Amino acid sequence: MLELAITLVLGLAVGSFLNVLIERCPRMLEREWLTQSLGLAREQGWTPPAGAEPDASPSLNLFTPGSHCPHCQAPVRWYHNIPLWGFMVLRGRCRDCGQAISWQYPAVELLTAVWFGLAMVLWGPGVTAWAWMAWGATLIALMVIDARTQYLPDDLTLPLCWAGLMVASLGWLPTDLQSALWGAVAGYLLLWGVAQTFRLIRGQEGMGQGDFKLLAALGAWMGWQSLGALILLASVLGLLHGLVRLKLKPQAEPHFPFGPSLCVAAFTLVIWQRGQPVWLVF
Ligand SMILES: [Zn+2]
Repeated sequence: MLELAITLVLGLAVGSFLNVLIERCPRMLEREWLTQSLGLAREQGWTPPAGAEPDASPSLNLFTPGSHCPHCQAPVRWYHNIPLWGFMVLRGRCRDCGQAISWQYPAVELLTAVWFGLAMVLWGPGVTAWAWMAWGATLIALMVIDARTQYLPDDLTLPLCWAGLMVASLGWLPTDLQSALWGAVAGYLLLWGVAQTFRLIRGQEGMGQGDFKLLAALGAWMGWQSLGALILLASVLGLLHGLVRLKLKPQAEPHFPFGPSLCVAAFTLVIWQRGQPVWLVF
């Protein structure tokens, strides 16, 4: 019981860190791209107009600046930074300017804690549970980043893929290294193939490369045997997502991210596969 309580608290803390990652990772990427393309332009002898430079003065990484309100920039007091608690005490509003705090913060914290607790219950204390917790935390970050910005950063998808191969080779997963390796290869190639076909037929990009890398990572963790079910479930979820979107926002652009569907499908399958002996009893 104590173990579960510690895990839940750890999940809240990790979720709080994921919020920072979700907020800053896309901005750091955009900044990097802008700096790179401006450097390239300068090499070609082109002088960028004033104001095109990224704001270089305040450093932006996962640790600085400290947490602050996105509206009024007021720093968040440490006791308001406590996961869930801070949001409840402040009743979802900034203490300084009164602007609403996004419900995404407590949602990510809660989701991470629930996943950590579930992993502890499903796998029991041990390295396998820890590995799945790290996997789920990365997926939660990817899911929200993709939903918000339509990026699936390489900085998250690629390490997730290597980590999957590593834990499979260490024997921490039910997936053996052979299945993990082919899962990664097939996962990448499957979506790459779909995207190429789509491009031939429609003459436009239907899917981002981030999706290929995400499915490669999921294949590494879940083995090639799971890919069929994973894609099927993700497609159904993607279709539902698209229909709901069309209903709610008919004028919205037709592009929407596929990453969240893949992540939700992966969570569902992993829980289903692990919990099967339990479900069969009922
Ligand atoms: Zn504020």
